[in-house]
Amino acid sequence: MKRLLLLGGGHAHVHVLREMARERFAAAEVTLVTPFMRQMYSGMVPGVIAGHYRAEQAAIQLAPLAAAAGVQVLETAAVGLDAVRRLVRLANGQVLGYDVMSIDTGSEMDRGRVAGARQHALFVRPIEHFLADVEDMLDAASRQALDVVVIGGGAAGVELALAFQFRFGLLGGEPGRVALVLGGDRVLPGYPESVARHAERALERARITLFRDTCVEIRADAVVLASGARLACDAPVLATGSEAPPWLAGSGLALDGHGFIVTGPTQQSGSHPEVFAVGDVATRIDAPHPRSGVYAVRAGPPLQGNLRAFCSGAPLKRHMPQEKTLNLLSCGRRRAIANRGGWTAEGRWLWWLKDHIDRSFVARYSVRVGSASAAPMTSAAATINGNTTTTTTAAPAAAQSEVTPSAETR
Ligand SMILES: Cc1cc2nc3c(=O)[nH]c(=O)nc-3n(C[C@H](O)[C@H](O)[C@H](O)COP(=O)(O)OP(=O)(O)OC[C@H]3O[C@@H](n4cnc5c(N)ncnc54)[C@H](O)[C@@H]3O)c2cc1C
Repeated sequence: MKRLLLLGGGHAHVHVLREMARERFAAAEVTLVTPFMRQMYSGMVPGVIAGHYRAEQAAIQLAPLAAAAGVQVLETAAVGLDAVRRLVRLANGQVLGYDVMSIDTGSEMDRGRVAGARQHALFVRPIEHFLADVEDMLDAASRQALDVVVIGGGAAGVELALAFQFRFGLLGGEPGRVALVLGGDRVLPGYPESVARHAERALERARITLFRDTCVEIRADAVVLASGARLACDAPVLATGSEAPPWLAGSGLALDGHGFIVTGPTQQSGSHPEVFAVGDVATRIDAPHPRSGVYAVRAGPPLQGNLRAFCSGAPLKRHMPQEKTLNLLSCGRRRAIANRGGWTAEGRWLWWLKDHIDRSFVARYSVRVGSASAAPMTSAAATINGNTTTTTTAAPAAAQSEVTPSAETR
């Protein structure tokens, strides 16, 4: 029996867990390490901030899903890796050995990159902490108008700025003000010009002030730009892209120039074939693509097949990430901008499409718990497509769970 370690409950690993719930990995004993017991679906986070969803509606609960899959859960984070000795060091002090490992831990943010950010800013990652900070911020905003400065002109920054502005409008009283610091000349670098034009129009309509400048310092009451401008600010929000997890450095795994795990067509590490990596934490050197949730989601089905094959000694399959993806950006109020290849459009119906796709994704991985609240390491009877399976792992509570099949992903 092989020891299969899943690090992170990211977008691809929820699919692996769901497939394990349908059909166990006979050749492996599986453990999931996750710092949070739910996986936030990032595509819906701007909608949570705008007030369209409650946070729970944008979350996949990992405990019932893992219980249905017969997977042991450790609620902690990986903080070190020795890929030569096949050992992972965890934040709770444990050291875990593995025979096969799959990493889907996403990217992180460098909290020291902008002076003063660590002390004063809200970081969009980890999303769980961000949502808690936003709740406090919205609470304060309901009492007095706040100046929010979102830093980062990529998709997350644009969507968040629009979401905050929309939410402030719902709070009543004097609405807060939102500014967006692009960190360059235009919004949405990497997206076609037509998408950027739509986004700029949406920002203008929402009366969000754009600064084609870079943030160099964050103070308790202001954001300082490279031009010397000083923006009054109660809540600076950093949405400045993604960095590799620092614990990968020195792991022995082959990493790219930015510290992300180098992988190939079978999703295996370029240096250690028993290590698989997908999503934002990995770089496909043979087929480079942006770090976005769409690719992490799409990596799930081939990953589960490859992990199953690797554990049982069967041949692996190659996975080619798609070249064109459908990108849907929410505009605060119920409108969205869509882009695929050279096609771009904006409208209400695109928000309804995004809403449908996003809700379907979360529903696809939700396990309804019929009794006792889900806890790490539980016993569970799960109903999956009409078949009932019973699992006993380490925890006391028993749960009745049902994996809900539903529509396709984004
Ligand atoms: C506000 C916002 C909105 C976005 N909207 C979109 C969108 O609409 N469409 C889109 O395609 N992309 C979007 N993105 C980008 C998208 O979030 C990422 O590309 C996507 O989450 C990557 O998925 P992943 O599975 O690699 O990692 P993640 O979704 O980040 O999942 C990683 C998981 O691993 C866990 N983890 C982290 N560190 C450790 C550790 N050390 N040990 C164990 N577990 C760990 C985390 O808790 C998390 O559960 C958005 C990002 C943000 C911030």
